[in-house]
Amino acid sequence: MPSTLEKKCIEHGLKMTGQRRVVARVLSESADHPDVEMLYARASGIDPKISIATVYRTVKLFEDTGMIERHDFGDGRARYEEAPEDHHDHLIDVRSGKVIEFVNEEIEKLQERIARELGYKLVGHRLELYGVPISENPRVD
Ligand SMILES: [Zn+2]
Repeated sequence: MPSTLEKKCIEHGLKMTGQRRVVARVLSESADHPDVEMLYARASGIDPKISIATVYRTVKLFEDTGMIERHDFGDGRARYEEAPEDHHDHLIDVRSGKVIEFVNEEIEKLQERIARELGYKLVGHRLELYGVPISENPRVD
């Protein structure tokens, strides 16, 4: 069965080569915001002949069409995820690099209010929270 990203590629009129299909599938199946190295490792598991250059180019192409989103979570590596149907924000565990997705209605409303007060209608935002687990960090005050 084609992945959701593969279907979007077809809707966007992209010619789907076997290797583009592999990268699309890997991205669709990854819920952990992988970087290109991680995508390459996963794509190689499906097609050992794929090169990292192909993965880079394909990711860039998908990003340019808006089908995937690039994030910078502060560690200098570009991370990717399939553009979500529903908006969410991210909390990054700076120790483990784990990324947690969340939605908070109060934050959403607050951002709209700030934009409105500045004379704007909000059309999008990016929010990243950086933290360490409280349980592993008992002495910080
Ligand atoms: Zn996400």
